[in-house]
Amino acid sequence: QMLPGDPEHGAHRRQVLGAVWSHAPPSPVASPRMLAWSTDMASTLGLSADDMRSDAMLAALSGNALLTGMAPHAANYGGHQFGHWAGQLGDGRAISLGELVNQDGERWELQLKGAGLTPYSRTADGRAVLRSSIREFLCSEAMHHLGVPTTRALSLVATGEQVVRDMFYDGHPEAEPGAIVCRVAPSFLRFGSFELPASRGDIDLLRLLADVCILRDFPELLAHPGASFGQLRQDGVFDENLYATWFSQVCERTAAMVAHWMRVGFVHGVMNTDNMSILGLTIDYGPYGWIDDYDPDWTPNTTDAQGRRYRFGWQPRVAHWNLSRLAQALSPLFASVEPLQAGLDAYVAAYDRAERGNIVNKLGLADYREDDAELMQALQGLLHEGEVDMTLWFRGLADLDVRSPGLEAVDAAFYDEAKRRACGEALAGWMQRYAARLRDDPLPARERRARMDAANPKYVLRNYLAQQAIDRAHEGDISGVTELMEVMRRPYDEQPGREAFAARRPDWAKDRAGCSML
Ligand code: AMP
Ligand code: MG
Ligand code: MG
Repeated sequence: QMLPGDPEHGAHRRQVLGAVWSHAPPSPVASPRMLAWSTDMASTLGLSADDMRSDAMLAALSGNALLTGMAPHAANYGGHQFGHWAGQLGDGRAISLGELVNQDGERWELQLKGAGLTPYSRTADGRAVLRSSIREFLCSEAMHHLGVPTTRALSLVATGEQVVRDMFYDGHPEAEPGAIVCRVAPSFLRFGSFELPASRGDIDLLRLLADVCILRDFPELLAHPGASFGQLRQDGVFDENLYATWFSQVCERTAAMVAHWMRVGFVHGVMNTDNMSILGLTIDYGPYGWIDDYDPDWTPNTTDAQGRRYRFGWQPRVAHWNLSRLAQALSPLFASVEPLQAGLDAYVAAYDRAERGNIVNKLGLADYREDDAELMQALQGLLHEGEVDMTLWFRGLADLDVRSPGLEAVDAAFYDEAKRRACGEALAGWMQRYAARLRDDPLPARERRARMDAANPKYVLRNYLAQQAIDRAHEGDISGVTELMEVMRRPYDEQPGREAFAARRPDWAKDRAGCSML
């Protein structure tokens, strides 16, 4: 690799200067067991079911052995957490094993989460619990199938060891089973990967990292992607113009990602800059959650209860704030701030575009018209006020009879009878307005339904569904996880016999947060 690594070996915690990664061998675990794997991810990687069942694979995916060519390392990065610069963070429990090049020539980085201590573990243990590992495993794959850019998950392995979690995070003081997820992505570089060298005034390292990132992850921006890195650098290819285009790309990808979150009702929960992928992938599934009743102020992150910085409705502007931090970090690569400002403007434009796309697709319109944003806003206000399920409402909307519009099609979406009565008239009024808009819209009914069904998922990974699968897994039954994974592979399809997975959140699950942080 062209990127500098930390010369010091070993897992003792330290500040790592002048390097973007440290050698970090996984720590072996007592008795690993393969609990589940993603057949889609495995086949993308060219791994067969036999491969996945093999002892060698289990050993590699539990951190007990390395396969030939693996070079385990932990990445060094910093980040702004909850609005404040936190300094060096790094992969405290994630260990990258290396890259796998598949049959199509795609590069995929494999990373074990929960594989033991690294130089970046700070005061924590380097491990992950089964509960949060199941959540990451299921959600990364569910998001992928929803069409949301995301890191992926290959496998879920039980370690056979117990992990003790801090009361502060989750109210589970007892020991609980440990697990390791193998995450997969073209790259795990984060905004914070660039912020850290910038914060230290290490501009050479910052520039090198930017150049490698462009070469590796944005090759389409290079005129001669075949040329060697050294040659490209010598030729001055990595100039301010290229950096400007690259930054704009990052901004636009981030906008597209967040617009998808808003479309499907996903709340990340901890949008710190160390959790923002430079590729615009959803990364770090911790205290995330899904919107049941539509509430822009809801956050699944219980540690964010006060500020609720990471609430659903704030995600677009938090992403912009995070991009501003990235822009600041990259500013030493630019003679003036204008290209960076242009990138941030590109974010706003791309987000607006994507939001209009969401409106058109979710409402099943041929084209965007000026009043449609207001139509959507009016609806969102009513859904909030009436405590109406976001997913069920939008999915049901495709069944509306435009000649006699009523609330029958969305009957299943209400949580509270009193609120339903209070808002029923206004919602019925909105339906009238919407039906009039549809009657004036050229899209044929069949195309409208197809467009809506492709934008409004029937199945999302509701918090309680994941929790039920976790409860069963704790009793030794992993089939809840595999079944849920199977349902989430086709979120836009009707799946006869599986309607229970598309049901409204049951009352007992109300006010239960997404899950714990760790
Ligand atoms: P997160 O809030 O998940 O983005 O984590 C923030 C930082 O804490 C990252 O540097 C993580 O690697 C680190 N971290 C989280 N959990 C652990 C753990 N159990 N052991 C070591 N480091 C951790
Ligand atoms: Mg993180
Ligand atoms: Mg995390």
